[in-house]
Amino acid sequence: MTACTLTLNDVGFRYKGGHEALSEVSLRLERGIVGLLGPNGAGKSTLMRILATLAKPTRGHVQWNGEDTARRPDALRRTLGYLPQDFGVYPMLSAREFLSYLSAVKGISAKGAKARVDECLAQVGLSEVGERRLGEFSGGMRQRVGIAQALLNDPRLLIVDEPTVGLDPEERLRFRHLLTDLAVDRLVILSTHIVSDIEASAGSLAIMAKGRLLFSGTPEALIATAAGHVWEWTVPAPQVAAVRANHVTTGSQQRADGVRLRLVAERSPSADAVPASASLEDAHLWLVSRGEKH
Ligand code: ADP
Repeated sequence: MTACTLTLNDVGFRYKGGHEALSEVSLRLERGIVGLLGPNGAGKSTLMRILATLAKPTRGHVQWNGEDTARRPDALRRTLGYLPQDFGVYPMLSAREFLSYLSAVKGISAKGAKARVDECLAQVGLSEVGERRLGEFSGGMRQRVGIAQALLNDPRLLIVDEPTVGLDPEERLRFRHLLTDLAVDRLVILSTHIVSDIEASAGSLAIMAKGRLLFSGTPEALIATAAGHVWEWTVPAPQVAAVRANHVTTGSQQRADGVRLRLVAERSPSADAVPASASLEDAHLWLVSRGEKH
């Protein structure tokens, strides 16, 4: 197996004339799926652009297998696949034409390109529809074409930015399975603000808010941080708004005796509240709510 180690050392980024979009991000990532989670504006896209060598950190260093990616971007670019958030396709081209065109852009020889396009279409389950125009594809199929183009150079680092936005649950599930298969011999970085996207597939997580890393580790380790801080509390309907305004609620359910709220809090919010075991979603909100107070 080839090495796939990405190391971030005190990475910071400031847009020209702007505030710090990233600060003090240190991480070591290895093979498998890493979920990068955080609310809008957390700095995920900025970080991904740095990892994809489209931007250079204004502070700190990123290394791919020990090589500085700002100083020697080519070593990483050769083995990088990137699916940006605003990935667009040409609706009049067939999937095969589109991928052949991108193979040429990526410098894959015409001789090798045909076989490679076939392999990539097969990998994402689109062999049967390779001749169809992209304009006829569903959102999920288009995202799979996006992955196929990111796979053309058989990358060891695959970066996918918010890939499940707009997909229906079935397509989302299929997309997650595809990423799991690809991560066997790659580092796959998946950015999302949807916890369930990574719950089933990511072996490790990095959680960001306001440009900072709040947590990195396994989903189990994150869940453990919320143990003892999750509560269920059934309140009469007229009180729900007040409880929501004063607590971080992670769920609610209408019941005959009122509304059962699920919330995260340092200590029990009421004598009527009962402790509950933490889910990844609870732990995520617990972490982010504490991060915002700092
Ligand atoms: P996310 O992907 O998590 O939503 P971004 O990386 O897009 O977060 O944004 C992080 C911060 O950087 C935000 O405060 C955003 O407003 C700011 N930002 C993003 N792009 C630019 C830009 N081109 N110029 C100035 N500020 C930017």
